[in-house]
Amino acid sequence: MSDNNVLKIEKLHAWYGESHVLQGIGIRVGQGELVTLLGRNGAGKTTTMKCIMGLVAHRTGSIVIDGVETIALPSRKIARIGLGYVPEERGIYSSMNVRENLLLPPVIAEGGMKLEEIFELFPNLRARLDSQGTKLSGGEQQMLAIARVLRTGAKILLLDEPTEGLAPVIIEQIHGLIQRLKARGFTIILVEQNFRFATTLADRHYIVEQGAIVDEFDNAELLRDEQRVLRYLGV
Ligand code: ATP
Repeated sequence: MSDNNVLKIEKLHAWYGESHVLQGIGIRVGQGELVTLLGRNGAGKTTTMKCIMGLVAHRTGSIVIDGVETIALPSRKIARIGLGYVPEERGIYSSMNVRENLLLPPVIAEGGMKLEEIFELFPNLRARLDSQGTKLSGGEQQMLAIARVLRTGAKILLLDEPTEGLAPVIIEQIHGLIQRLKARGFTIILVEQNFRFATTLADRHYIVEQGAIVDEFDNAELLRDEQRVLRYLGV
């Protein structure tokens, strides 16, 4: 595993103003792996994702992506290494229609999905191309947010709580979609509160507590000792 890490984080610290939120995060993710960050609210999962993407101004330590040290790089340069971030709030522009939202971010890397390919993965979006962002359901917004980063050519996907607030049938669809992306070789870091969703997709899991990694499991190990993990999550 150590040879093919596409992402390696060491001693990552981050601050919001005076508040020292991340206190030495260490994570590694192999090529094509799906890794989750699990933990209670406020543990620092979203902040870790934002640091990877260069969106937290005050951060120190090391984040090496595809062999490039990115800790001091601005977000747009980090994106060009092949990262795509889908934030929890999804970031769909309500004044724009689906087509405009899809075409908004620049293509950053070769091999970005063409619209036809995107519609194969997201059949619903084709019919909704001219719909305003505001008219979309939560599930459609989530699909659009993921489709948008696939078009840019990102190969490492950061998905922050993609199932948040969605109905079970839509969660199933997103589950199937993430499975297909994994099968296509995308490397994925997933923040997820839905334990079943996480454990039926992931290869490995990190437990985040008070801005640090306190435990690590591969998926089989976690399924053998669910109670230990559920205790961390306060479930
Ligand atoms: P959640 O599931 O609730 O989003 P999380 O594990 O993703 O939890 P973070 O959002 O990373 O946690 O938050 C970590 C800590 O940083 C929390 O104490 C939170 O209140 C604080 N925090 C998050 N964003 C900001 C901000 N913009 N300014 C100040 N403090 C923040």
